[in-house]
Amino acid sequence: MKARLNLQEYTNGILQGDRVVLAKAITLIESQLSSDRIIADQLVEKVLPHSGNSIRIGITGVPGVGKSTFIEVFGKYIIDEHKKKIAILTVDPSSPLTKGSILGDKTRMEELSKNSMAFIRPSASGEAVGGVTHRTREAIHLCEAAGFDVILVETVGVGQSEIAVKKSVDFFLLLMLAGAGDELQGIKKGIMEMADAIAITKADGDNKFKAHEARAEYQHALHLVRPDSSGWLPKVFTCSAVLSEGIDSIWNAILEFQQLLISNGIFETRRQRQQVEWMHECFDQLFKMEFQKSPWLHEKKSSLESDVLAKKITPYQAAQTMLKEFIHSLRGSNQT
Ligand code: GDP
Repeated sequence: MKARLNLQEYTNGILQGDRVVLAKAITLIESQLSSDRIIADQLVEKVLPHSGNSIRIGITGVPGVGKSTFIEVFGKYIIDEHKKKIAILTVDPSSPLTKGSILGDKTRMEELSKNSMAFIRPSASGEAVGGVTHRTREAIHLCEAAGFDVILVETVGVGQSEIAVKKSVDFFLLLMLAGAGDELQGIKKGIMEMADAIAITKADGDNKFKAHEARAEYQHALHLVRPDSSGWLPKVFTCSAVLSEGIDSIWNAILEFQQLLISNGIFETRRQRQQVEWMHECFDQLFKMEFQKSPWLHEKKSSLESDVLAKKITPYQAAQTMLKEFIHSLRGSNQT
């Protein structure tokens, strides 16, 4: 199959659930070429009415917590026991300098990747969080239109991208290790507050007792942290991917969560809110890009920076001046 298809070919392939076309379509939406962007936008618009029919699950945890092993087992469980199709999108905010991938170059989820009911797609790494989120959201819609019932968005629990992913999913699952140091728990605190469920991984062998202890502690901590407006109380589980234990409880909790939020109307309201937030984020990005393209900006910015450093003007006043000049320059360019 050729590398680039036309809009009709992309649309038909996706709606027929063709995984090869879906992969090519995601490459298209990740492309930086403006000619690709035009088709990508049209494609997302075409598939939008066919999307939405899935449960979107965010999953995160520090490297080594057992994400890929968990996803492999979780994915197979959903496919075998519930006959559902699962798409896994990984968001990997690695440094563009090192081009290194935190999620590893090794083949992850080897068995799942061969299963025709699964689709696994690592994101283009090394991009700004904003860009990654936008592309991930588009990819979610494409996967849904291709008939995937469960969309799993995986991130590494080390930074900003979790917050962005939280805004793109229905349910947020945090994987944690039992007995990890205080420092690690510190990083996790903000992320913990976003979790709809926590799963303590590797609850097997010598680690089993520690995992059960950690579960009780986290459950207690979560009760203190957040009474959710949806009526959902975050749950804590232990699981062992190696022994395939605890996987069904996590899946059942996700279903329970979905049923609760559908019954009280919050499921759809949240998705609608996310869609509108997406629009605002796109606007912010487009505005910034437009602003940075302005030819006068560089010179003006340097002189304002000097004024700020010399305390001739406050940072806020300087920002206002830049905005005013930008609006002025737009008016000028409209008149020519
Ligand atoms: P990731 O970096 O979060 O994707 O973690 P991996 O899935 O690659 O797992 C990291 C290590 O933990 C590997 O050596 C796995 O074999 C091991 N591991 C993962 N899940 C389990 C589990 O349920 N029990 C045990 N004992 N080890 C596990």
